[in-house]
Amino acid sequence: MQKLSERTEGFTDSVIRRMTRISNQYGAVNLSQGFPDFEPPEPILKRLKEVSHEEFHQYSITWGAQNFREALAEKQSRYMGRNIDPNREIVTTCGSTEAMMAAMMTVANPGDKVIVFSPFYENYGADTILSGARPIYVPLQPPDFHFDPEALEDAFRAHPKALILCNPSNPCGKVFTEEELGIIADLARRYDTYVITDEVYEHIVYAPHRHIYFASLPGMWERTISCSSLSKTYSITGWRLGYTIAPEEITERIKKVHDFLTVGAAAPLQEAVIPGLKFTQDYYEDLLAKYTHKRNLFLKGLDDLHLSHTVPEGAYYVLLDISEFGYESDLEFCKALAREVGVGAVPGSSFFKEKENRFIRLHFAKRDETLQDALGRLELLRARIPVRSEIYSQA
Ligand code: GLN
Repeated sequence: MQKLSERTEGFTDSVIRRMTRISNQYGAVNLSQGFPDFEPPEPILKRLKEVSHEEFHQYSITWGAQNFREALAEKQSRYMGRNIDPNREIVTTCGSTEAMMAAMMTVANPGDKVIVFSPFYENYGADTILSGARPIYVPLQPPDFHFDPEALEDAFRAHPKALILCNPSNPCGKVFTEEELGIIADLARRYDTYVITDEVYEHIVYAPHRHIYFASLPGMWERTISCSSLSKTYSITGWRLGYTIAPEEITERIKKVHDFLTVGAAAPLQEAVIPGLKFTQDYYEDLLAKYTHKRNLFLKGLDDLHLSHTVPEGAYYVLLDISEFGYESDLEFCKALAREVGVGAVPGSSFFKEKENRFIRLHFAKRDETLQDALGRLELLRARIPVRSEIYSQA
């Protein structure tokens, strides 16, 4: 038999998704893969019921149903501060996962370099491999995850085609400041580099921090592909609805990549989510209040247990410092955590390029009862996971 493709040889499965399977295996409270266990908003669910008897069972226009794009353009124009053209500047995708992949394939030739901040959401690694690009990693330094402007400029000196910007950032919860974004924008302009954003947590930014859309910075619209999704904003991660927003010339190309990759996102779901896209500002304020409450509840719980952790400025992840347990492998720690304590987490090493094994990622997009249950289990952490002893599992 001939060998399978070289580009997929080094692939591992997604550690995030693997940890969900391991959590399920042990009946653990799954705080690994970031998805809510509460209901999406009622108006969306009501519309979902109705659309099953309407005419939405065949393909929508490949780059997104007209109604959906119009509602999305109106909403994003409000938040991004520019008039977005629903026909020329939007492509509806199967989640932001496809949006990012289509953006990468649109921008990068095999061999092109792409700057990725580390820690990074694990899909970016796969995106660069599948598009043939070579990542240049620039560290975000814990505990505040700042970057060194000099190190960033060094990366730009290698003439990258693009920079990937996850803001608010998964897994570290960083929200890039205006000053930091200005530095990136200045370098992108000077070195003629595209910026591909992942802004799926755009509405989950804790005061006093504030989200600034990269495309809204002076001169950046022309070189930015903004990727985002409806998953986190409307608690519908399973619906796989995402999008790109970019200038017409770039969007024209993304449309083609998207068409050949997936043809289109699910037509009935695009229709059903429209009431959500039409929500007023109150909805986004309530969403943020809900996540602020969950963040405070969960962080206080961790503080009460004297577990040291990061404080997210945005998104819904916390990195817990597990150095005190002395584990060589954070993956083994996470397996032990699921099995012995009953809490699912993601090993931090799956996000860092640097050799880093002192963090695990937990998320708090869960009902208060679920978070209390997890915190109750974590009370037993030190009793169940002895310090400096390696526990290996069958998982
Ligand atoms: N973005 C979420 C996370 O980081 C979900 C990832 C996924 O499985 N698509 O956990």
